[in-house]
Amino acid sequence: MHGAGVSGLLVTHPADVRYLSGFTGSSAALAVSRRAARLFTDGRYRTQAAEEVTAAKVEIVSGPPAVAAAQWLSAQPGIENAGFDPQWTTVAELARWKAGLASKLRRRFLVPLETSLVETLRLVKDEEELGIMREAALLGSKLFDHIVGFIRPGIREVDVAAELEHQARVLGAEGMSFETIVASGERSALPHGRATGARLPRRGFLTLDFGVILKGYCSDMTRTVYLGKPKRNERSAYEAVLEAQLAGVDAVGSGVSCGAVDEAARGVLRQAGLAEAFSHSTGHGVGLEIHEPPRIGAGQTNTLHPGMVVTIEPGVYLAGQFGIRIEDMVVVTRTGGEVLTPSPKALIEL
Ligand code: ZN
Ligand code: ZN
Repeated sequence: MHGAGVSGLLVTHPADVRYLSGFTGSSAALAVSRRAARLFTDGRYRTQAAEEVTAAKVEIVSGPPAVAAAQWLSAQPGIENAGFDPQWTTVAELARWKAGLASKLRRRFLVPLETSLVETLRLVKDEEELGIMREAALLGSKLFDHIVGFIRPGIREVDVAAELEHQARVLGAEGMSFETIVASGERSALPHGRATGARLPRRGFLTLDFGVILKGYCSDMTRTVYLGKPKRNERSAYEAVLEAQLAGVDAVGSGVSCGAVDEAARGVLRQAGLAEAFSHSTGHGVGLEIHEPPRIGAGQTNTLHPGMVVTIEPGVYLAGQFGIRIEDMVVVTRTGGEVLTPSPKALIEL
Protein backbone atom coordinates (compact mmCIF):
# COMPACT_ATOMS: atom_id res chain seq x y z
CA MET A 1 0.00 0.00 0.00
CA HIS A 2 2.86 2.31 0.85
CA GLY A 3 4.49 1.60 -2.51
CA ALA A 4 1.23 2.24 -4.32
CA GLY A 5 0.82 5.58 -2.55
CA VAL A 6 -2.38 4.72 -0.71
CA SER A 7 -3.06 4.75 3.01
CA GLY A 8 -6.27 2.75 2.74
CA LEU A 9 -7.38 -0.19 0.65
CA LEU A 10 -10.91 -1.10 -0.43
CA VAL A 11 -11.12 -4.78 -1.41
CA THR A 12 -14.32 -5.96 -3.09
CA HIS A 13 -13.42 -8.82 -5.44
CA PRO A 14 -14.68 -11.95 -3.62
CA ALA A 15 -11.52 -14.00 -4.25
CA ASP A 16 -9.40 -11.15 -2.84
CA VAL A 17 -11.67 -10.74 0.17
CA ARG A 18 -11.47 -14.47 0.82
CA TYR A 19 -7.71 -14.53 0.41
CA LEU A 20 -7.16 -11.76 2.95
CA SER A 21 -9.89 -12.49 5.47
CA GLY A 22 -11.08 -16.07 5.02
CA PHE A 23 -14.65 -14.93 4.35
CA THR A 24 -16.29 -17.11 1.69
CA GLY A 25 -19.63 -15.33 1.30
CA SER A 26 -20.58 -13.61 -1.94
CA SER A 27 -21.38 -10.15 -0.62
CA ALA A 28 -18.68 -8.34 1.33
CA ALA A 29 -16.09 -5.58 1.23
CA LEU A 30 -12.89 -5.45 3.20
CA ALA A 31 -11.45 -2.11 4.32
CA VAL A 32 -7.76 -2.11 5.22
CA SER A 33 -5.90 0.70 6.92
CA ARG A 34 -2.33 0.64 8.24
CA ARG A 35 -3.63 -0.28 11.66
CA ALA A 36 -6.80 -2.29 11.19
CA ALA A 37 -9.02 -4.21 8.83
CA ARG A 38 -12.78 -4.37 8.86
CA LEU A 39 -15.09 -6.65 6.92
CA PHE A 40 -18.49 -5.33 5.89
CA THR A 41 -21.23 -7.73 4.92
CA ASP A 42 -25.01 -8.05 5.20
CA GLY A 43 -27.27 -9.80 7.69
CA ARG A 44 -27.44 -13.07 5.74
CA TYR A 45 -23.80 -13.67 6.59
CA ARG A 46 -23.78 -12.73 10.28
CA THR A 47 -23.05 -16.26 11.57
CA GLN A 48 -20.77 -17.26 8.72
CA ALA A 49 -18.65 -14.11 8.98
CA ALA A 50 -18.26 -14.55 12.75
CA GLU A 51 -17.01 -18.10 12.15
CA GLU A 52 -14.71 -17.44 9.21
CA VAL A 53 -13.18 -14.05 9.90
CA THR A 54 -10.73 -13.70 12.75
CA ALA A 55 -8.21 -11.12 11.56
CA ALA A 56 -10.72 -8.32 10.92
CA LYS A 57 -13.62 -6.88 12.85
CA VAL A 58 -16.94 -7.72 11.19
CA GLU A 59 -19.66 -5.14 10.69
CA ILE A 60 -23.12 -6.05 9.45
CA VAL A 61 -24.66 -3.35 7.24
CA SER A 62 -28.00 -2.98 5.51
CA GLY A 63 -26.79 -1.12 2.39
CA PRO A 64 -24.04 -2.10 -0.09
CA PRO A 65 -21.01 -3.33 1.93
CA ALA A 66 -18.51 -1.47 -0.27
CA VAL A 67 -20.23 1.87 0.34
CA ALA A 68 -19.97 1.30 4.08
CA ALA A 69 -16.34 0.22 3.71
CA ALA A 70 -15.44 3.37 1.77
CA GLN A 71 -17.22 5.51 4.36
CA TRP A 72 -15.39 3.77 7.20
CA LEU A 73 -12.03 4.29 5.50
CA SER A 74 -12.77 7.98 4.93
CA ALA A 75 -13.53 8.40 8.64
CA GLN A 76 -10.28 6.83 9.87
CA PRO A 77 -7.65 9.28 11.15
CA GLY A 78 -4.55 9.44 8.95
CA ILE A 79 -6.19 7.98 5.83
CA GLU A 80 -5.92 10.42 2.94
CA ASN A 81 -6.99 8.05 0.18
CA ALA A 82 -8.00 4.47 -0.52
CA GLY A 83 -6.93 2.30 -3.42
CA PHE A 84 -9.32 0.01 -5.25
CA ASP A 85 -8.85 -2.48 -8.08
CA PRO A 86 -10.34 -1.02 -11.29
CA GLN A 87 -10.30 -4.48 -12.88
CA TRP A 88 -13.10 -5.54 -10.54
CA THR A 89 -15.01 -2.28 -10.27
CA THR A 90 -17.79 -1.22 -12.59
CA VAL A 91 -18.38 2.43 -13.44
CA ALA A 92 -21.74 2.18 -11.65
CA GLU A 93 -20.17 0.79 -8.48
CA LEU A 94 -17.55 3.52 -8.35
CA ALA A 95 -20.26 6.17 -8.73
CA ARG A 96 -22.20 4.58 -5.85
CA TRP A 97 -19.12 4.46 -3.60
CA LYS A 98 -18.35 8.10 -4.34
CA ALA A 99 -21.92 9.18 -3.71
CA GLY A 100 -21.61 7.73 -0.20
CA LEU A 101 -18.63 9.95 0.64
CA ALA A 102 -18.60 13.51 1.91
CA SER A 103 -18.73 15.82 -1.12
CA LYS A 104 -15.20 17.18 -0.60
CA LEU A 105 -13.81 13.62 -0.78
CA ARG A 106 -15.62 12.51 -3.92
CA ARG A 107 -13.00 13.61 -6.40
CA ARG A 108 -9.75 12.33 -4.94
CA PHE A 109 -10.33 9.89 -2.10
CA LEU A 110 -10.77 6.71 -4.14
CA VAL A 111 -7.72 5.87 -6.25
CA PRO A 112 -7.61 3.19 -8.97
CA LEU A 113 -4.54 1.00 -8.35
CA GLU A 114 -2.17 0.50 -11.27
CA THR A 115 -1.29 -3.01 -10.12
CA SER A 116 -3.67 -5.12 -8.18
CA LEU A 117 -2.11 -5.48 -4.73
CA VAL A 118 -4.03 -8.54 -3.58
CA GLU A 119 -3.75 -10.34 -6.91
CA THR A 120 0.01 -9.90 -6.67
CA LEU A 121 0.01 -11.55 -3.25
CA ARG A 122 -2.17 -14.36 -4.55
CA LEU A 123 0.30 -15.18 -7.35
CA VAL A 124 2.62 -17.07 -5.03
CA LYS A 125 0.95 -19.89 -3.10
CA ASP A 126 2.12 -20.93 0.34
CA GLU A 127 2.48 -24.53 1.53
CA GLU A 128 -1.07 -24.73 2.81
CA GLU A 129 -2.47 -23.51 -0.50
CA LEU A 130 -0.23 -25.86 -2.46
CA GLY A 131 -1.42 -28.76 -0.32
CA ILE A 132 -5.02 -27.98 -1.22
CA MET A 133 -4.21 -27.51 -4.89
CA ARG A 134 -2.32 -30.80 -4.97
CA GLU A 135 -5.40 -32.48 -3.53
CA ALA A 136 -7.67 -30.73 -6.06
CA ALA A 137 -5.48 -31.84 -8.98
CA LEU A 138 -5.45 -35.39 -7.61
CA LEU A 139 -9.23 -35.40 -7.41
CA GLY A 140 -9.35 -34.25 -11.05
CA SER A 141 -7.13 -37.17 -12.04
CA LYS A 142 -9.33 -39.61 -10.11
CA LEU A 143 -12.32 -38.29 -12.02
CA PHE A 144 -10.50 -38.81 -15.29
CA ASP A 145 -9.77 -42.45 -14.39
CA HIS A 146 -13.44 -42.92 -13.58
CA ILE A 147 -14.73 -41.30 -16.75
CA VAL A 148 -12.41 -43.29 -19.01
CA GLY A 149 -14.29 -46.39 -17.87
CA PHE A 150 -17.62 -44.73 -18.65
CA ILE A 151 -16.90 -43.46 -22.17
CA ARG A 152 -18.23 -45.46 -25.10
CA PRO A 153 -19.51 -44.67 -28.60
CA GLY A 154 -23.17 -43.64 -28.80
CA ILE A 155 -23.56 -41.91 -25.44
CA ARG A 156 -23.98 -38.15 -25.47
CA GLU A 157 -21.36 -35.56 -24.52
CA VAL A 158 -23.72 -34.30 -21.81
CA ASP A 159 -23.93 -37.82 -20.35
CA VAL A 160 -20.15 -37.77 -19.97
CA ALA A 161 -20.22 -34.29 -18.38
CA ALA A 162 -23.07 -35.24 -16.04
CA GLU A 163 -21.32 -38.40 -14.86
CA LEU A 164 -18.08 -36.50 -14.32
CA GLU A 165 -19.78 -33.73 -12.35
CA HIS A 166 -21.84 -36.17 -10.28
CA GLN A 167 -18.73 -38.12 -9.32
CA ALA A 168 -16.90 -34.87 -8.53
CA ARG A 169 -19.56 -34.03 -5.94
CA VAL A 170 -19.60 -37.53 -4.54
CA LEU A 171 -15.81 -37.48 -4.14
CA GLY A 172 -15.87 -34.20 -2.22
CA ALA A 173 -15.65 -31.36 -4.74
CA GLU A 174 -17.51 -28.16 -3.79
CA GLY A 175 -18.33 -27.69 -7.44
CA MET A 176 -16.76 -27.52 -10.87
CA SER A 177 -14.25 -24.72 -11.44
CA PHE A 178 -15.73 -23.98 -14.89
CA GLU A 179 -18.23 -25.42 -17.33
CA THR A 180 -17.04 -28.92 -18.22
CA ILE A 181 -15.77 -29.26 -21.78
CA VAL A 182 -16.59 -32.51 -23.55
CA ALA A 183 -15.95 -32.19 -27.28
CA SER A 184 -16.06 -35.24 -29.51
CA GLY A 185 -15.20 -35.95 -33.13
CA GLU A 186 -15.17 -32.80 -35.30
CA ARG A 187 -16.33 -30.81 -32.27
CA SER A 188 -12.95 -31.43 -30.62
CA ALA A 189 -11.68 -28.72 -33.00
CA LEU A 190 -13.58 -26.18 -30.84
CA PRO A 191 -11.12 -25.18 -28.09
CA HIS A 192 -14.05 -24.46 -25.73
CA GLY A 193 -16.61 -26.96 -26.95
CA ARG A 194 -19.02 -27.32 -24.10
CA ALA A 195 -20.83 -30.63 -23.77
CA THR A 196 -23.83 -30.94 -26.11
CA GLY A 197 -26.33 -33.65 -27.02
CA ALA A 198 -23.91 -34.88 -29.72
CA ARG A 199 -23.24 -38.61 -29.53
CA LEU A 200 -19.70 -39.93 -29.21
CA PRO A 201 -18.51 -41.35 -32.54
CA ARG A 202 -17.12 -44.85 -33.12
CA ARG A 203 -13.95 -43.25 -34.30
CA GLY A 204 -12.47 -39.90 -33.34
CA PHE A 205 -10.92 -37.76 -30.66
CA LEU A 206 -12.68 -36.79 -27.47
CA THR A 207 -11.39 -33.81 -25.49
CA LEU A 208 -12.23 -33.54 -21.79
CA ASP A 209 -11.31 -30.29 -20.03
CA PHE A 210 -12.59 -29.92 -16.50
CA GLY A 211 -11.74 -28.93 -12.97
CA VAL A 212 -13.05 -29.07 -9.44
CA ILE A 213 -13.17 -26.61 -6.58
CA LEU A 214 -11.75 -27.86 -3.30
CA LYS A 215 -11.62 -25.58 -0.24
CA GLY A 216 -12.04 -22.67 -2.63
CA TYR A 217 -9.14 -23.64 -4.91
CA CYS A 218 -9.57 -24.65 -8.54
CA SER A 219 -8.10 -27.53 -10.47
CA ASP A 220 -7.84 -27.61 -14.25
CA MET A 221 -6.84 -30.48 -16.51
CA THR A 222 -7.37 -31.64 -20.09
CA ARG A 223 -6.93 -35.03 -21.65
CA THR A 224 -7.78 -36.02 -25.20
CA VAL A 225 -8.55 -39.68 -25.77
CA TYR A 226 -9.33 -41.57 -28.95
CA LEU A 227 -12.36 -43.72 -29.66
CA GLY A 228 -11.31 -46.49 -32.00
CA LYS A 229 -8.02 -46.62 -33.89
CA PRO A 230 -6.43 -43.26 -34.81
CA LYS A 231 -5.32 -42.59 -38.38
CA ARG A 232 -1.67 -41.90 -38.95
CA ASN A 233 -2.10 -38.11 -39.24
CA GLU A 234 -4.21 -38.07 -36.07
CA ARG A 235 -1.59 -39.99 -34.15
CA SER A 236 1.22 -37.75 -35.36
CA ALA A 237 -0.75 -34.62 -34.43
CA TYR A 238 -1.29 -36.07 -30.95
CA GLU A 239 2.41 -36.86 -30.63
CA ALA A 240 3.25 -33.25 -31.59
CA VAL A 241 0.88 -31.82 -28.97
CA LEU A 242 2.29 -34.16 -26.34
CA GLU A 243 5.84 -33.21 -27.24
CA ALA A 244 4.87 -29.51 -27.05
CA GLN A 245 3.21 -30.03 -23.68
CA LEU A 246 6.27 -31.82 -22.28
CA ALA A 247 8.54 -29.07 -23.62
CA GLY A 248 6.32 -26.45 -21.95
CA VAL A 249 6.41 -28.31 -18.63
CA ASP A 250 10.19 -28.72 -18.95
CA ALA A 251 10.64 -24.99 -19.52
CA VAL A 252 8.87 -24.03 -16.29
CA GLY A 253 11.34 -22.74 -13.72
CA SER A 254 12.09 -19.97 -11.28
CA GLY A 255 13.18 -16.79 -13.09
CA VAL A 256 12.00 -18.03 -16.49
CA SER A 257 9.80 -15.60 -18.44
CA CYS A 258 6.25 -16.66 -19.26
CA GLY A 259 6.99 -15.90 -22.91
CA ALA A 260 9.89 -18.39 -22.90
CA VAL A 261 7.62 -21.14 -21.56
CA ASP A 262 5.05 -20.35 -24.25
CA GLU A 263 7.74 -20.43 -26.91
CA ALA A 264 9.04 -23.81 -25.70
CA ALA A 265 5.65 -25.36 -26.42
CA ARG A 266 4.82 -23.25 -29.48
CA GLY A 267 8.19 -23.95 -31.09
CA VAL A 268 7.50 -27.69 -31.12
CA LEU A 269 4.18 -27.19 -32.90
CA ARG A 270 5.78 -24.76 -35.35
CA GLN A 271 8.37 -27.41 -36.21
CA ALA A 272 5.54 -29.86 -36.80
CA GLY A 273 3.84 -27.41 -39.19
CA LEU A 274 1.00 -26.83 -36.71
CA ALA A 275 1.73 -23.25 -35.63
CA GLU A 276 -1.48 -21.95 -37.19
CA ALA A 277 -3.53 -24.66 -35.52
CA PHE A 278 -2.39 -23.61 -32.02
CA SER A 279 -4.69 -20.64 -31.58
CA HIS A 280 -4.40 -19.75 -27.88
CA SER A 281 -1.88 -19.13 -25.10
CA THR A 282 0.08 -22.02 -23.61
CA GLY A 283 -1.35 -21.58 -20.13
CA HIS A 284 -2.53 -19.46 -17.24
CA GLY A 285 -2.22 -19.11 -13.50
CA VAL A 286 -4.75 -20.92 -11.35
CA GLY A 287 -5.71 -20.67 -7.69
CA LEU A 288 -8.81 -19.28 -6.02
CA GLU A 289 -9.88 -18.45 -9.57
CA ILE A 290 -9.71 -20.69 -12.60
CA HIS A 291 -7.92 -18.01 -14.63
CA GLU A 292 -5.55 -15.71 -12.79
CA PRO A 293 -2.17 -14.22 -13.59
CA PRO A 294 0.35 -14.99 -14.89
CA ARG A 295 -0.61 -15.58 -18.49
CA ILE A 296 1.73 -18.01 -20.25
CA GLY A 297 1.54 -16.36 -23.65
CA ALA A 298 3.75 -15.23 -26.51
CA GLY A 299 5.95 -12.28 -25.61
CA GLN A 300 4.99 -12.20 -21.90
CA THR A 301 8.03 -10.79 -20.07
CA ASN A 302 6.92 -11.37 -16.47
CA THR A 303 8.86 -14.15 -14.77
CA LEU A 304 7.86 -17.22 -12.80
CA HIS A 305 8.65 -17.57 -9.10
CA PRO A 306 8.55 -20.55 -6.73
CA GLY A 307 5.01 -21.12 -5.47
CA MET A 308 3.22 -19.97 -8.61
CA VAL A 309 0.84 -22.52 -10.10
CA VAL A 310 0.26 -22.44 -13.85
CA THR A 311 -1.31 -24.66 -16.46
CA ILE A 312 0.55 -25.90 -19.52
CA GLU A 313 -2.04 -26.66 -22.18
CA PRO A 314 -0.98 -26.47 -25.80
CA GLY A 315 -3.44 -27.74 -28.40
CA VAL A 316 -4.09 -27.98 -32.10
CA TYR A 317 -7.46 -27.35 -33.71
CA LEU A 318 -8.19 -28.26 -37.31
CA ALA A 319 -11.69 -27.07 -38.19
CA GLY A 320 -13.85 -29.77 -39.73
CA GLN A 321 -11.36 -32.46 -38.72
CA PHE A 322 -10.30 -32.76 -35.09
CA GLY A 323 -8.71 -31.06 -32.12
CA ILE A 324 -6.30 -32.14 -29.39
CA ARG A 325 -5.30 -30.52 -26.11
CA ILE A 326 -3.31 -31.79 -23.15
CA GLU A 327 -3.24 -29.80 -19.91
CA ASP A 328 -1.52 -30.21 -16.56
CA MET A 329 -1.16 -27.98 -13.55
CA VAL A 330 2.46 -27.23 -12.69
CA VAL A 331 3.85 -25.58 -9.57
CA VAL A 332 7.03 -23.56 -9.97
CA THR A 333 9.73 -24.77 -7.58
CA ARG A 334 13.23 -23.52 -6.79
CA THR A 335 14.71 -26.08 -9.18
CA GLY A 336 12.11 -26.21 -11.96
CA GLY A 337 8.50 -27.29 -12.07
CA GLU A 338 6.49 -30.03 -10.42
CA VAL A 339 3.49 -31.45 -12.27
CA LEU A 340 0.44 -31.69 -9.99
CA THR A 341 -1.71 -33.67 -12.44
CA PRO A 342 -0.68 -37.33 -12.23
CA SER A 343 -2.82 -38.70 -15.12
CA PRO A 344 -0.84 -40.38 -17.92
CA LYS A 345 -0.53 -38.51 -21.21
CA ALA A 346 0.21 -41.25 -23.74
CA LEU A 347 -2.75 -41.52 -26.14
CA ILE A 348 -5.53 -43.66 -24.66
CA GLU A 349 -7.46 -45.64 -27.29
CA LEU A 350 -10.92 -46.76 -26.21
ZN1 ZN B 1 -8.63 -26.57 -18.72
ZN1 ZN C 1 -6.74 -24.14 -18.37
